[in-house]
Amino acid sequence: MEFIDTFEMRFPGMSHAEVAALNPSPTRNIAPPSGVTVDAPTVTAFVDGSRWIARCPFCAGAERVSFETALFFCCGCRNQAVDRAYIRVTLPAKTKREKIEGALLKRPDWRVRAWFPHESVADLEKQNKAHGVVG
Ligand SMILES: [Zn+2]
Repeated sequence: MEFIDTFEMRFPGMSHAEVAALNPSPTRNIAPPSGVTVDAPTVTAFVDGSRWIARCPFCAGAERVSFETALFFCCGCRNQAVDRAYIRVTLPAKTKREKIEGALLKRPDWRVRAWFPHESVADLEKQNKAHGVVG
C-alpha cells in the first residue's frame, strides 16, 4: 500500500449518503445524512494503519475522512446526536499533509503508518530513524 487512504480513495465518486446507504448500522438504521452541517462538535483527523480517519464523537465508530468535503458522517450512529447533520473535520493543511504522508510512506509496513496531531513531521522522522527506516 503506497498511499495513505482517504474517504475518496476508498469510495471513489461516492457521496457520504451513498456510502451510508451501503453500510447499514447494527440497528439496521440506514438513515442518510440530513444535508445540514453543524459547527459543533468537530472531529480531528489522524492517521492510523495508513488511513486518514477520525473518531466519531457520538459512538465508538471511526470513519475515513474526506479532504474534499472536510465533513464527517458516521455509518454506525448516523450522527443521530445532531439529527444526522454533518460535522466538520479538522484537517492538516496541504503542505503539512504532504510532509506527514512523505514521512509515513517511507515505512514499509503500512500497519505502523500512524500520526497524531500532537506529533511534528520531525517526530515522525525521528521515529523512522529509531526503527531503521531508510529513505
Ligand atoms: Zn458514530
